[in-house]
Amino acid sequence: MQFLEDTTQKLIKKLHSKSKYNIVITTHHKPDGDALGSSLAMFYYLKNLGHNAIVITPTDYPKFLHWMPGHDEVIIYEENKNKCLGLIKEADFIFCLDFNDLLRINELNEPVKTSKAEKVLIDHHLEPVEFDDYRFHTHEASSTCELVYIFIAKSGDTNKISSEIADCLYTGIMTDTGSFRFSGTSSETHRIIADLIDKGAKNSLIHELVFDTNSLSRLKMMGYILYHKIEIIPEYNTVLIYLTKEELAEYNIKTGDTEGFVNYGLSIEGIKFSVLIIDRTKLVKMSFRSKGDFACNVFAKKHFEGGGHKNAAGGQSSQSIEETIEKFKEVLVLYKQQLQ
Ligand code: 5GP
Ligand code: MN
Repeated sequence: MQFLEDTTQKLIKKLHSKSKYNIVITTHHKPDGDALGSSLAMFYYLKNLGHNAIVITPTDYPKFLHWMPGHDEVIIYEENKNKCLGLIKEADFIFCLDFNDLLRINELNEPVKTSKAEKVLIDHHLEPVEFDDYRFHTHEASSTCELVYIFIAKSGDTNKISSEIADCLYTGIMTDTGSFRFSGTSSETHRIIADLIDKGAKNSLIHELVFDTNSLSRLKMMGYILYHKIEIIPEYNTVLIYLTKEELAEYNIKTGDTEGFVNYGLSIEGIKFSVLIIDRTKLVKMSFRSKGDFACNVFAKKHFEGGGHKNAAGGQSSQSIEETIEKFKEVLVLYKQQLQ
């Protein structure tokens, strides 16, 4: 793997020195399995090295991740602003995991940027913005959890991987690879997974805890979407799904309940591009997925203030959902050749 600006050795030395550091670990808003898994794994690892570590998430995260070891100790910024701001102020290091731009941590952007703490970026998204002092980055990694494993291995500390760390890292690799099926899944990923199982990751149970804990409302919404809401745009081999505020309210949709819906569009034969547009409280949120060469992160960045990976990206719009859908259909025309 090619690492960008690998300043890891310098960081490893500091973390293994006699000093005891105050370390804040943070990740992108609405954390997913990889964001939370990498943060909690790092939390346990840094504590094991003797540091004071704490995980701060900008917002809450889905219920299907609440079983994770360390969940009870996570502080959610939106629910405890002053405490989080104090911790950030006192931090010697801030670990920024699974995001490539401070805009992804919402209101925490300013306090993190202006904090005296040294910033560590560990991430696998393309083109990270410069705000960090130490960078352990490659977009070739399946997940940030895979990078955290490699970071621990480079530190000569694989013997410090407890069953808690193994469970956290397994979860992130599993969710970010779509259960080991996306193209970023390498033989190295599988070797890491094998080692995590040897170190106590409860692989089968983790699949059950993440995937077999649907709420009935999520299942009903899924049925509703599959039956009523899939719009195929055949000229562009594209699927469009949108959800209005009223629909979200009718099915009592909570954080994380719409996770994965966008993939159903892509599971239709011949479809190369799928978009899910959701009318959230403050803005319209978009999820993009593609197959093959179509780079949906480029599409998201160019038209919808977003980014992500080549085949999985997100974006947003401050226009109404109707206007957003209209704009999506208008700009799609520019990609006719790529989508045929
Ligand atoms: P999802 O569709 O699951 O929310 O996000 C898919 C991928 O796109 C994730 O890797 C996520 O980090 C990235 N992503 C989602 N929303 C945004 C966004 O608004 N801006 C950027 N830069 N990336 C996003
Ligand atoms: Mn990730």
